[in-house]
Amino acid sequence: MEFFSRRNGSLYAEDVALSELARAVGTPCYVYSLAALRTQLGAWREGFGDHPHLVCYSVKANSNLAVLRALANEGAGFDVVSGGELARVLAAGGQASSVVFSGVGKQAWEIRAALDAGILMFNVESPAELELINQLALEMGTTAPVSLRVNPDVDPQTHPYIATGLADSKFGVAADQCVEHYHRAAELKGIEVLGADCHVGSQLVSSSPIEEAATRMASLLDRLESAGIPIGYIDMGGGLGVTYQDESPPGPDEWVATLLRVFEGRGLTIVVEPGRSIAANAGVLLTTVLFHKGNHEKNFVVVDAGMNDLARPSLYSAHHDVEAVEDCDGTITADVVGPICESGDFFAKERLVANVQAGGLLAIMSAGAYGFVMASNYNTRPRPAEVLVNGDSWDLVRERETVESLFAGEAIPGHLSGE
Ligand SMILES: *Cc1c(COP(=O)(O)O)cnc(C)c1O
Repeated sequence: MEFFSRRNGSLYAEDVALSELARAVGTPCYVYSLAALRTQLGAWREGFGDHPHLVCYSVKANSNLAVLRALANEGAGFDVVSGGELARVLAAGGQASSVVFSGVGKQAWEIRAALDAGILMFNVESPAELELINQLALEMGTTAPVSLRVNPDVDPQTHPYIATGLADSKFGVAADQCVEHYHRAAELKGIEVLGADCHVGSQLVSSSPIEEAATRMASLLDRLESAGIPIGYIDMGGGLGVTYQDESPPGPDEWVATLLRVFEGRGLTIVVEPGRSIAANAGVLLTTVLFHKGNHEKNFVVVDAGMNDLARPSLYSAHHDVEAVEDCDGTITADVVGPICESGDFFAKERLVANVQAGGLLAIMSAGAYGFVMASNYNTRPRPAEVLVNGDSWDLVRERETVESLFAGEAIPGHLSGE
């Protein structure tokens, strides 16, 4: 996390002390580094050199409007998986013409919104969806540009919840039925066949699954070409992993070089959809230590952030480093836990951590992707504030929710309140 460094014992985001941010906006609070986001997107784009490409940042990883705008300013397109995410991209000033729309359960209103906006293409996940898109496009007097999402049947060797390219997963259409579906797509008057798409999984720490998937897609392209169905775009999805602990994933340059090698000479525009690789190590979650407690067996450090704020440890048993924001004396082996009434509410288990006392600050590292976006209001907890740091300045890019707002849409029926 090169943009989060320790200076004279204090942890900084770029040139801003995290303790200053905690004082100003309170905790829990997500802090993102603009330079980290830009640098990582830049690494993807540079990897392609002058080869035609589109880096469609996967909005679901971190969808704050400021993050989206920052990436749009640097030339990113976007991969969205809902009408809500499309609305965010447009609200942030992103270009509809560089948006791809993925997801197994697109609804009519979402498809209409995407046609209306003029997105680059739909990544179609089933024959039934293809028929629906065709019908809606015809109703609107337009044609829908599509890719078919092919299930490459590649084992990404990652957590089962984020492995999406295996034959038994709900995503995409089987490779051996693809040509048939492409024939159907080519027949439909409301459909324009533009590309082919796949996505292997997430947090991949080697290039070999993507190389295998790309090789399979290349042979599909050969079959499509012989069938007289020309393809201009190949979308290889996202999935490049990051270092949370001691993983050593390839860089975007190596990942992209693999794609360029496999697809060389085909005259394709290559699309990638990185999410985690751009955002994860661009953010931390700041939290305050509330109490220390112990029993005969264990020590607990109770903090003011919980699994509702950052779900990854409880959801995927994911590792996040936990660091003291200000240097402190000594260490303690403890569980770092939140206030939620669930035993799965932890950030670290039996971990040697800095012995930060009540009132002190901890930073939960590598929390920029799949952090805030997965936050919930469980236990009626307002979702955290978000801050974007730029050099020595910073902006509040999302206010902390208020408790009142959490039940503002609820109503007590008159017959219960005696009216
Ligand atoms: C989640 C997802 C991505 C992004 O995955 P990362 O591992 O964050 O890069 C890209 N494309 C699709 C279709 C996805 O579902």
